[in-house]
Amino acid sequence: MNLEQVLFEKFNYSFFREGQKAIIEDIIDGNDVIAMLPTGGGKSICYQLPAYVKDGSVLIVSPLLSLMEDQVYQLRRKGEKRVVALNSFLTANEKNYVMRHLNTFKFIYVSPEIIQSSWIIDKLKGLKISYLVIDEAHCISQWGHDFRPDYSRLGTIRKQIGNPPCVALTATATPEVVKDIAECLQLESVQKHIHSVDRKNISFVVENVSSYQQKLEKVLELVRSLRGPGIIYFSSRNVAEGVAAFLQEHQVQNVAYYHGGLDHEQRMLIQQQFIHDQLSVICSTNAFGMGVDKSNIRYVIHFHFPPQLESYLQEIGRAGRDGKESIAILLHSVNDHELSEMLIQNDLPNRTQLENVLTYLNNKLLGNTEINFTKEIETELMTTNVISETHWRFIKYHLEESMVIQHSRMVKSFSITEFTEKIDLIVKARIDYKEDKLHFMKNWIATKHCRREEMLAYFHEHLNEKPKRCCDNCASDIVKAYNEEMKEQYAMSKLVYDWKRELHSILVKEECEKVYE
Ligand code: ADP
Ligand code: MG
Repeated sequence: MNLEQVLFEKFNYSFFREGQKAIIEDIIDGNDVIAMLPTGGGKSICYQLPAYVKDGSVLIVSPLLSLMEDQVYQLRRKGEKRVVALNSFLTANEKNYVMRHLNTFKFIYVSPEIIQSSWIIDKLKGLKISYLVIDEAHCISQWGHDFRPDYSRLGTIRKQIGNPPCVALTATATPEVVKDIAECLQLESVQKHIHSVDRKNISFVVENVSSYQQKLEKVLELVRSLRGPGIIYFSSRNVAEGVAAFLQEHQVQNVAYYHGGLDHEQRMLIQQQFIHDQLSVICSTNAFGMGVDKSNIRYVIHFHFPPQLESYLQEIGRAGRDGKESIAILLHSVNDHELSEMLIQNDLPNRTQLENVLTYLNNKLLGNTEINFTKEIETELMTTNVISETHWRFIKYHLEESMVIQHSRMVKSFSITEFTEKIDLIVKARIDYKEDKLHFMKNWIATKHCRREEMLAYFHEHLNEKPKRCCDNCASDIVKAYNEEMKEQYAMSKLVYDWKRELHSILVKEECEKVYE
């Protein structure tokens, strides 16, 4: 079979990128696969292309609704009609229709929540699934940077739906996370395709500032001097909004902010405007980026640093997907450390929150035969106890693991003290683990050695070749040198463009003269 031909016919690309073909061949051979390719490396095609070679449907678990919608949109744009996303956006009628016609779809995207439902699992049992894809597979691992409790059950779900071959994809996983993925999905003779996480076209810079005001000035200076488009990342929604307003006040054009507090339509609009170059700077929390398929992002600035290197690598990886020179600048001030500590603590429920929720559940059961966890009940629970959805998911997951909640129902009360103790211990262990990760991040910021080497060492990789503008510890004045080169390149491209335009106008003129002769 000529895979290049399929690549061209279905995706209009002439060549495979590094690693793609070998992964595709393994999937076609029916092997279980774990593939790690850097952000923008082209993982989607790795699981989409074999679908055209094999019979049956491909089931894809994807962690984010926006990511899923984007994949569906991209496939439809390429002319593929047999694609659907099973998620909370579907109305009950649409869902029923899709479920009745499931075998007519080649690509079935599912959210990790929806695939937990026994109704969906039963339907999937009757389907010919050629393979199961787990996108962003690091979410499986407790030790991954983005653990999703629902992901950890995918191994069991895979068995229930007839044990199809499984393809796990990720951009950033340490060896322990790769091991965890294989164990959790019970992949025995798995083919691993682990590629370097290094992005040679991105230079690393850390700039130390001493105050918030100085950071603001620095960000303004950078945004004015760097050629965009660019993303500025924040750990706080308020600060993201504030800095976007500050930049606008200082005549920076085409700036917007983006975070999880905006409604779906606003978020989609901003994302589309950015993709189509109507916006040149986005001030955002980490809610922005995954699934944003934009190849020419030139810089990523961190106003606040993320709590671990894995997240940092993912976020800066959004720059330079076109392979051209790009830059990642982290603005660091010692005052930020408090914020990062706070984020770690707030990410999980504290002891009082645990006690409150568990008491609430037991009380609610009094006088009722069961609690059926519908969306409304869960929303009420979260508002009454003032906890986030992430907190509730975490607590629910552990109650499910202990069989207190089964199939989204709770029928028996339980000991509040015992469960508070038990879950609190897990919380403490996770916080310790996250503190360790934060420690690595801080060390990386403070290092005087090559940042690329240290980053790779963290992923157990060795740096073989340094790019010319590697990092601020390898060369001085990186931002200045970068800007100068960008200016030169831009002037060159303009020259080539002008030259082409000139030639074009001569040819058109000649054509016109011929017509009038
Ligand atoms: P990721 O590895 O981050 O999931 P994607 O699959 O989203 O990356 O791909 C990033 C971009 O690269 C997309 O625009 C995709 O169409 C493009 N791409 C993938 N493979 C190729 C290829 N072989 N040739 C050219 N472009 C490709
Ligand atoms: Mg992807």
